[in-house]
Amino acid sequence: MSASIRWSISDRLGADRFATDKATHLKLADPAICRTCALKPCIAVCPAEVYHWEQDRLRINYENCLELGACRIACHAIGARALVWDFPAGGRGVRYRYG
Ligand code: SF4
Repeated sequence: MSASIRWSISDRLGADRFATDKATHLKLADPAICRTCALKPCIAVCPAEVYHWEQDRLRINYENCLELGACRIACHAIGARALVWDFPAGGRGVRYRYG
């Protein structure tokens, strides 16, 4: 019988590697739109905590993006549709190692 290793979600995310781009791939059509967004669902749906509301504006830590796209769906489904989402350029971004 072989031994199995059980990894928690935190362990798996901690094993990922990132090739960070110098420019963000997560942009806002207009940052002022986010002030009108009542629910700000991008903050709640992102498991990597990329989005934070600070000093009356949305902060985006794009370096931690897992490229799930959940923020894009949430923003355009129940948010104020400010988010312009794309993959990082040139093969940069997250490199999953353990699913
Ligand atoms: S869900 Fe969209 S519009 Fe609302 S705060 Fe987030 S990025 Fe801005």
